[in-house]
Amino acid sequence: MSSESTDNFDIAIIGGGLAGLSLAVRLAAPRFQHLRVVVLEPRIQYVRDRTWCYWANSGAENGQGHAPHPFQTSVAIRWPSWEVMCGEVGTPSYETISNTGQHCYEMIPADRLYGDAERLITSSTHVKLLKGVTVIGASNKFDQVEIHTSIGKINAGRVFDSRPPATLSKAAWIQRFQGFELESDTPIFNVNRATLMDFSVTSAADSRAGRVHFIYVLPLSDRRALVEDTWFAPLNDACDDVDYQSQIKRYLKRRFGLERYQVLHREQGVLPMDPELQPSKVSGRIIKIGAGGGMARASSGYAFFETQRACDAIVEKLAESNLMAEEFQLPRWRSDVSYWMDAVFLRVLKEYPALAPKIFFDLFARVPPDALARFLSGVATPLDVARIVRACPKIPFLKAAFFPR
Ligand SMILES: Cc1cc2nc3c(=O)[nH]c(=O)nc-3n(C[C@H](O)[C@H](O)[C@H](O)COP(=O)(O)OP(=O)(O)OC[C@H]3O[C@@H](n4cnc5c(N)ncnc54)[C@H](O)[C@@H]3O)c2cc1C
Repeated sequence: MSSESTDNFDIAIIGGGLAGLSLAVRLAAPRFQHLRVVVLEPRIQYVRDRTWCYWANSGAENGQGHAPHPFQTSVAIRWPSWEVMCGEVGTPSYETISNTGQHCYEMIPADRLYGDAERLITSSTHVKLLKGVTVIGASNKFDQVEIHTSIGKINAGRVFDSRPPATLSKAAWIQRFQGFELESDTPIFNVNRATLMDFSVTSAADSRAGRVHFIYVLPLSDRRALVEDTWFAPLNDACDDVDYQSQIKRYLKRRFGLERYQVLHREQGVLPMDPELQPSKVSGRIIKIGAGGGMARASSGYAFFETQRACDAIVEKLAESNLMAEEFQLPRWRSDVSYWMDAVFLRVLKEYPALAPKIFFDLFARVPPDALARFLSGVATPLDVARIVRACPKIPFLKAAFFPR
């Protein structure tokens, strides 16, 4: 397949976002230098457009650890403990603090990862990142894929397509959040502890509107933190009436007495939470990856850790396969049970939005933190799953599982 022509490649990766770059940096390793790989990305320049958090497992416990991902130098901070709160508006009456020697909650600002990925790719001889290139379409043609792009036609033996999903299913929810990184004049944050969800901001009106609402606070130093106002809502609810900035302003005053601060960086996101986005059957030589290929958790919108595991599995499969001779099937990186549990979870949120704070709180309060971190990372053991099930309210979950509306 390899040819000297500039528009023929063994592998083309459509989209140089999280999944595309995660796969590309693995393929940049010397053991894949017999392959010509191209990444096609419309952006001309990468900026900090998001911040990824996930649970990292140090791996000592019961052989449950995972190979470190290739972006270790992108990690900005690790929190050894995290908390979830719920209760009356303004006065959280319940708080659970989790602490484990096994897992840390880690943060990667996107610009760091993009920069590290670009460095790893440019230092290889066989992987090319083409920025400013938009893919218009890709179609299977005999033993290769023809890709139509804004700079002309490109041929590839295999295509990994990470473009975002074009449509979502009726079961989907959308996660919307806006917030900012702030700096205060005085030291007020505990840098050892991330507030993952503070449901004390939830009002009865939010639940009546069928929404789940919380704020999270990720301290970066005793004066700096990333604070986001977050809403889960059904697909047809655009949350147009939400004033994210006022929510955060009120929250900072109530919780920290903080009124004067400097905004250093703003961030916002709209994430699909769609249980029907699952690893798809390979269509000829085109393979869906990324959120559209089932690499994001429908129940949380998290995709970082899952994407790393999925890309590890894909490159191992590529290393063993004869790329041209064999039909390439996507390896499984997560169990069907886990996709099903996410679908049930979203149905419960839809039917009983007022229960959401208590459900999340109980998960963090009643499930051992390592078991919960594994579950949220998609690597739960059967015992972890049993613990999760035990911590959830039985009737809503049984109804959602066996009598979905
Ligand atoms: C603000 C924000 C915060 C988040 N925080 C977290 C978090 O804390 N933890 C977590 O796990 N997840 C988080 N996520 C969710 C998730 O990790 C990301 O959405 C993740 O980037 C999904 O990876 P992806 O590769 O599927 O999509 P993207 O990273 O969005 O990559 C898709 C790529 O496709 C490219 N593309 C689009 N159209 C074309 C085209 N026609 N031709 C070629 N390329 C194209 C895009 O330019 C982009 O680079 C966050 C998301 C956002 C937006």
